[in-house]
Amino acid sequence: MKVCKFGGTSLANAVQIEKVIKIIQSDPERRCIVVSAPGKRNSQDKKITDLLHELPRNYGINRKYSDATLVTIKDRYFEIAGDLGIRIDLESEFDEIERSFYSGCSLDYLISRGEYLSGKIVSTALGYDFVDPADCIFFNNQGRCVKSFSHFKPKFSGRKIVVPGFYGSMPDGSIKTFSRGGSDITGAIVASAVGAEVYENWTDVSGLLMTDPKIVSRPKKIEIVTYRELRELSYMGASVFHEEATFPVQKAGIKINIRNTDNPNHPGTFVVPENGFQKGENIITGIAGRKDFSVITVEKKMMNQEVGFVRIILTVLEENNISFEHIPSGIDTVSIIIDNQQLSGKLEKVKTQIRDRCQPDKIESCPGMAMIAVVGRAMAYTPGVAAKVFTALSKEGINIRMINQGSSEISIIIGVENGDYENAIRAIYGAFVE
Ligand code: ASP
Repeated sequence: MKVCKFGGTSLANAVQIEKVIKIIQSDPERRCIVVSAPGKRNSQDKKITDLLHELPRNYGINRKYSDATLVTIKDRYFEIAGDLGIRIDLESEFDEIERSFYSGCSLDYLISRGEYLSGKIVSTALGYDFVDPADCIFFNNQGRCVKSFSHFKPKFSGRKIVVPGFYGSMPDGSIKTFSRGGSDITGAIVASAVGAEVYENWTDVSGLLMTDPKIVSRPKKIEIVTYRELRELSYMGASVFHEEATFPVQKAGIKINIRNTDNPNHPGTFVVPENGFQKGENIITGIAGRKDFSVITVEKKMMNQEVGFVRIILTVLEENNISFEHIPSGIDTVSIIIDNQQLSGKLEKVKTQIRDRCQPDKIESCPGMAMIAVVGRAMAYTPGVAAKVFTALSKEGINIRMINQGSSEISIIIGVENGDYENAIRAIYGAFVE
C-alpha cells in the first residue's frame, strides 16, 4: 500500500484537488492520504496556515482585521467545496472554530484547523473515511511526538482514509502542531504505522535537483538519493522535504517518492535506504550550501598537550546556548564554525570568556563564511573526488577556508568566503556534471 501526502499547492483550489483525486483514483494502492492546508494559488496569495496565524495578532490590534481575515479563510474553503460540488457542512465547522477563537483557544488549535478542514473536504470528495490525528498522534509534555498510530493499525487495514497533517494531541487532549511544514512528518508517521511500501510525497516540483536552480541553470534531477544523503543535503539548505520527516520512514525502511501533482507521469525522486554503491551511478548526488557562518579561531602553543582545552571552549558555547557546526583543528589551533544567527549579539562575550578561561596566544573571528556540502554515497569508493573538487575551485581562483570530510565519507564540506559561494557551486557542479 502507498501512503500519499499532498502539500499545500496541490490543495490550493478545486482545480488542484481534482488533480489530486485523479492521482489517487489511478492507483488502488493509494489508500492512506495525508493532506496539508490549502497553500498559495499564485505568488501574491497567502497560505491558509499563515492567515490563521495572523488572526490572534490582528485581533490584538483591531478586531476588524481579524474578522476580515476570518472571512477570507471561510471564503476560500466555501469556494473550494462549491467548485468541487460536494455536500459538506462547513457552516457548523466554522461556527465551532469561531467560538473557540473568540473564547481564546490556543494558537496550535487555530493553525491546525487549516489541515483539519482540508481533510474534511478531501475525504468527502473521495468518499474516504476521515481520521482525526488528534486521536492517534500523541505528544508528551515536552512537546515530542511519542506514541503514534501503530495501535490503530488493525483498524486501518482495508480502509481508505484521509488524515489531516501537521498536528496531534497532548496528554491533556489539547491540540499540538509540529513545526512548519510538518505535514511531511505526519505522512512519514502514517507510512511507518501502516507499514506502507512507499511514502509518496506529492508537491509542486518533480523531485530534487542536484543543486540550487537559482545558481546553476537547469541542474540535473536526482533520481535516487539515500536517506543519509538527503539528510546532509537538506541540512545544508536543499528544501523540499521536512528535515525531521525522514526518521520514521527510515527506521521502517520505507522508500519515499517525491512527486509533482502538476506532472504526475514524472517518476520524481526516490529516497531509499543505504544499499551500497551501484556501478553506473553519478559520483556525486548533490551540492547544497548556506551562507553566513562565522569562524572563531583559537591559537595556543602546545595546545595539543593541554587536556580539556576544547572542552572549555565548548562549555563557553553551551553556557551561551550556542550550537556549533564543525570544529576543524590543527596542532596548535582550533576553529569553531557557527551559524551567524546563533551568535548574534553574543560574539564579544564568547570571545572574552574563551580568552579568560583558555589564555590563548590569539583569538580571531571572521563572520562571512559560506559552507558547501558536496554529497555522494559513491564518493567513499571513488578515488579523486576531493582532487576534482579542489581543482575546480582553484581554477576559478577560489580560496578554500576550511575542509571537512565526515567519517561517513558521503560528503565533503568546504568553507569559502560568502562572496565566492555561487561561483564555487557552479565550479563544482561543472566539474562533475557538465
Ligand atoms: N500547513 C502547515 C504549514 O504551512 C503544515 C504543512 O503544510 O506541512 O507549515
